[in-house]
Amino acid sequence: MYDIPFLDLPPLVGASGTVQLPGSKSISNRVLLLAGLAAGTTTVHELLDSDDTRVMIDALRALGCGIERDTAHAHTLRVTGLGGRLQVREADLFLGNAGTAMRPLAATLAVLSTLQGGRYTLRGVPRMHERPIGDLVNALRPLGCRIDDLGTPGYPPLALHGAAGGTLALAAPVRVRGDVSSQFLTALLLALPLAARAAGREQDIVIEVEGELISKPYIEITLNLLARFGIVVRNEAWQRFVIPAGSAYVSPGAIAVEGDASSASYFVALGAIAAHGGAPLRIEGVGEGSIQGDIRFVDAAEAMGAQVRRGPGWLEVHRGQWPLKPIHLDCTAIPDAAMTLAVMALFAEGTSRLDGIASWRVKETDRIAAMAAELGKLGATVVAGDDFIEVTPPVGRWRAAAIHTYDDHRMAMCLSLAACHALLPGREADAQPLRILDPKCVAKTFPDYFEALFGVVEAAAVPVIAIDGPTASGKGTLAAAVAAALGYGLLDSGALYRATGLAAVDAGVSPDDEAAVAALAARLPLRFGQGAEAGRTWFDGAKYGPAGREITDELRLESTGLLASRVSALPAVRAALHGLQLSFRRAPGLVADGRDMGTVVFPDAGLKVFLTASAEQRAQRRHKQLISKGIPASIAALRADLEARDRRDTQRTASPLKPAEDAKLLDNSQLGIDESVQQVLAWWQERRPFP
Ligand code: C5P
Repeated sequence: MYDIPFLDLPPLVGASGTVQLPGSKSISNRVLLLAGLAAGTTTVHELLDSDDTRVMIDALRALGCGIERDTAHAHTLRVTGLGGRLQVREADLFLGNAGTAMRPLAATLAVLSTLQGGRYTLRGVPRMHERPIGDLVNALRPLGCRIDDLGTPGYPPLALHGAAGGTLALAAPVRVRGDVSSQFLTALLLALPLAARAAGREQDIVIEVEGELISKPYIEITLNLLARFGIVVRNEAWQRFVIPAGSAYVSPGAIAVEGDASSASYFVALGAIAAHGGAPLRIEGVGEGSIQGDIRFVDAAEAMGAQVRRGPGWLEVHRGQWPLKPIHLDCTAIPDAAMTLAVMALFAEGTSRLDGIASWRVKETDRIAAMAAELGKLGATVVAGDDFIEVTPPVGRWRAAAIHTYDDHRMAMCLSLAACHALLPGREADAQPLRILDPKCVAKTFPDYFEALFGVVEAAAVPVIAIDGPTASGKGTLAAAVAAALGYGLLDSGALYRATGLAAVDAGVSPDDEAAVAALAARLPLRFGQGAEAGRTWFDGAKYGPAGREITDELRLESTGLLASRVSALPAVRAALHGLQLSFRRAPGLVADGRDMGTVVFPDAGLKVFLTASAEQRAQRRHKQLISKGIPASIAALRADLEARDRRDTQRTASPLKPAEDAKLLDNSQLGIDESVQQVLAWWQERRPFP
């Protein structure tokens, strides 16, 4: 996840490969609640791990459900449910910005506290307190539920309370509005079965919908999952829903969550826009037979020109018509995925219009206003009304825009597709990077969205920041900090020379045997640790056994540095490592440190920095470092070593150490690391095209 203030996407010019979708948010949170209410233990597979599911899990745990992670499978969770009996009678639950947690938990706890007694408060982030819940409260109060508004009436936070032995007035149908959010009906459908076995009940429970029911596909998901947990609801023309008397939740034992169809929409769109080579973009996790309404987005994408093949659990997308065809569609059935259509409209020949999107106004943000503002920044013409949006692609130049995301995951994900604009005919020269502000908002439903995106795209003009300088100048620390601040990858080219030196020792080859060392360098068996193992390095291969040989610490030894300085003077070795170094240039960008990053390896780097700390300063820094690790050292000896290496690095004929002509010199002798980082970021910012 990119937990940084902004992420710059380079122009995206192709897409192919395979994306594995995270679990569906809608299914995950419903399944969690159902498992939490049912009798018995449910093993949930392929569960989405995101902000919204985390608040649901925390809430269930606070209510006394047993929650156990499967240590072997990150996306498997075992939930032991309450069997409909409250165990914790008082709780204050924080539900973030998860509508799929707030609405169903409000209904469930209202019903249970009325019947069994208890007191619960439900709250969330400030935006959650602006998202309506009044229609649900108005449906529950006539049943006898005691619900207090703790803030603005009709909005969270809420307090729910009741005394043991209460009853619910269920003789008459429960009435709920269906035209603001289908989550109110879902909440009642999930909660009321808990009353179906209350003492003496022999009557079915009936829910009647007032007004036109929107987002029916989400109700279908609810009904589908209820059936998996033993509750078979009769759907009478989407107007009346009947929960049979005596219904009770029973765990299905195990259940697998489908991949998220709304999340799939970004990749279906990406395929329609950018999968123009031979290979399609394959999406795994949803496909034919999905129970999610947003799967119908695929039809809309096809109408705009996408070529899609589908099978059980997968989709393959290829560009068809190009540019895309404009679309005019009533999106009532696919409100979330419809946002992706609004961005696809940028790639259509003509004006697209999406109707039936009034619900956008009460989502994570006012999505109609947000979409209009951000598409406008790119140069598109947007007309927005209460329940529609019309998008005409930019006619003039595409503008390099910094996209606000409004703490709305879908804004971040769908607008990222605008980075494909250079694929439009005649737009190659318009290629611009695209800045996504607050990229971590995708954590709501798809924490690794950008990683997944970068895994399947081909990018043009991937930016490089080159940081060169002499030994012990602090390049490595500076480069790592700059890379982290920008979300860019990191190339520590010195480590490649160091590893080459170690490989020579392992192979019993003299570090001066140019041909033999170059042969080793050309196929270095390096493996870099990922995730929890980031920063660690191994040699892999038959000769090192199944676990490989970890060389993390050995790489940093002074003796290894000296070895590197010898092998790096050999032109054939430098040539052998050239391609490997270039392969680090991947979206979204690269920070490369070494001796010749700006001069030889990445001469087109967007920013070149040359560090010039004095030998005295560098020797003192290295001394401090070694002493802090308990390694004895003398400043004078270190300085002599540094100077010898400087001489070798600057005087060799192959790629000698020197500043590139267009390098920014940075003497960091008197600067702390933070100041150096800020300086480099400021230089970088000056060169970016964002207003
Ligand atoms: O930067 P570091 O100290 O890890 O580099 C080890 C040695 O590798 C340097 O002293 C230098 O001789 C060599 N090197 C190089 N070109 C690079 C990076 C490192 O010649 N781009």
